[in-house]
Amino acid sequence: MSKVNPFSVAQHQLDEAARRLSLDPAAHEFLRWPQREYHFTLPVVLDDGATRIFRAFRVQYNTSRGPAKGGLRWHPDESIDRVRALAAWMTWKTAVLDLPLGGGKGGIACSPKSMSIAEKQRLARAYVRAVGAELGLHRDIPAPDVNTTPQIMAWTMDEFETRLGRHEPGVITGKPVSIGGSAGRDNATSYGGLCIIREVDKLIGISLDRARFAIQGFGNVGGGLAKLLYESSGHVVAISAEDGAIHNDKGINIPKALDYYESKAGHLAGFDGGDAISNEQLLACACDVLVPAAVEHVLTERNAGSVQAKIIVELANGPSTPQADKIFQDRGVLVVPDILANAGGVTVSYFESVQNAHNYAWSPEEIRAQLDRRMTAAFRSVHQVATEKPVDHRLAAYLLAVDRVAHACRLRGWV
Ligand code: NAD
Repeated sequence: MSKVNPFSVAQHQLDEAARRLSLDPAAHEFLRWPQREYHFTLPVVLDDGATRIFRAFRVQYNTSRGPAKGGLRWHPDESIDRVRALAAWMTWKTAVLDLPLGGGKGGIACSPKSMSIAEKQRLARAYVRAVGAELGLHRDIPAPDVNTTPQIMAWTMDEFETRLGRHEPGVITGKPVSIGGSAGRDNATSYGGLCIIREVDKLIGISLDRARFAIQGFGNVGGGLAKLLYESSGHVVAISAEDGAIHNDKGINIPKALDYYESKAGHLAGFDGGDAISNEQLLACACDVLVPAAVEHVLTERNAGSVQAKIIVELANGPSTPQADKIFQDRGVLVVPDILANAGGVTVSYFESVQNAHNYAWSPEEIRAQLDRRMTAAFRSVHQVATEKPVDHRLAAYLLAVDRVAHACRLRGWV
């Protein structure tokens, strides 16, 4: 895991936007910190009868534009600074997409891979018992994130509703479709990424059917995008999981790779559809579009100079450090930033809450059309700012988002 403090990076990104916007000092200081954060200590009985204590967090970073919105991560290295950073990025992401939501994030430090289903259920319910009073349709709406699944969202919703004594499915998104989840949520982030790639293609003509894609991470987001690209005749030349990467210049058979990944419980090592390379080599391989879709801070000042792609579409949260960003700018690499590129997930989560509020379900076609419309509009707004200022697309997205959030804070009389 990287040594870079993600919250320092998030604050640095805000500082740059605040300076360009000449944001007044009080508004700037207010936006540098979460509005509220909660730290919990959760005792959970394990299957062997022992009690284990878990550290957990929920950060409501900013709620000026709507209820806090953001995922729940279950990860051994979870820390308050990572959750703060992710909650800040959610705030800017919902603002770039112009959704009536704020930003939040939650996390539990745990190793879900070594927990039984019953232990996971007890942990999910313990978390809701701790944080439940702070959640709600009009306060804070969690969603799935790294290592949390629709099943975990179902337990979370059930515990919340049991305490409340009535149905309130919109309090959490990413639920299974049969109990109020939205069609299209499972691959919403990947589909949103595809819409962004199509817009980049329109802008600079990368020829989607000829471009070579390298994707780091083969989970929900990276695997989902690889499948969508494969189905639209895209040429995916490199893929990876935590245990290593595969490269094939002729293009990887993605359905075969997905079957292999599933059968090996999330591993790609040993897949015979290409040459084995390392994750580091994937980032520097010969390709046109690089898609980091795994973890944060994989692109740093150490390797940014070796990236051969001319376009980077950030589907992971925070994959590039500010130092890497500077190198990409100097080299003319187009970086579509995380707070725009991976916003498909939160956008369909928003649609899920809207459907729940009306006790109605939209069709998959309707979801895709609405998502496409929102992603396209956001990309074009960011690109317009980038062209007019002129600045890179990350700073353009921040200028748009921070201005919107600061404006809402001012209207409310907060700063
Ligand atoms: P996931 O757990 O389904 O998949 C993660 C993938 O990354 C796996 O293939 C894993 O093997 C790989 N990986 C883990 N550690 C790695 C490492 N150190 N180096 C290389 N590969 C590694 O998670 P996901 O839902 O696909 O999320 C991936 C990224 O996208 C995260 O940064 C997440 O915050 C971001 N994101 C997800 C969503 C969503 O809707 N799921 C939305 C927005 C952003």
